[in-house]
Amino acid sequence: MGVPVEIKCLKNGQVRIHWFVHSEKGPIVTGSVTHITARGPLVLGGVTGYIACQPARKNLTSPIINGHMQPCPCSDDVQAVTCETCAATPEYETQCELLAQALGATKWKNPPAPVQTRDATKMTDPGAVAKV
Ligand SMILES: [Zn+2]
Repeated sequence: MGVPVEIKCLKNGQVRIHWFVHSEKGPIVTGSVTHITARGPLVLGGVTGYIACQPARKNLTSPIINGHMQPCPCSDDVQAVTCETCAATPEYETQCELLAQALGATKWKNPPAPVQTRDATKMTDPGAVAKV
């Protein structure tokens, strides 16, 4: 039997996705992997940065706490971020402004949560943890 996984969710049932900020200061350095493609080797990862709401976090590993694995879902794309704490950082606001400029929009904000496909109120502890 494997280790149970706990996914942190928002009150609306969405998975909390943190923002991985690219920064040479780190402290996180992701591993890299190379895929051989028809156009040659494709190297993914191997970048340095930090989680916006947890700048002291030193890695993206999934610690096992109280017998449950707790992954840290994250993205370096602000459009994928659902973590309200990450979205409240000044860096996030700046990145959204840069994205809006790139898209030719006057302002870009993380869109509201999509329509739920399941009833989060039926979760054992809505807003806290979904166990999978
Ligand atoms: Zn966050």
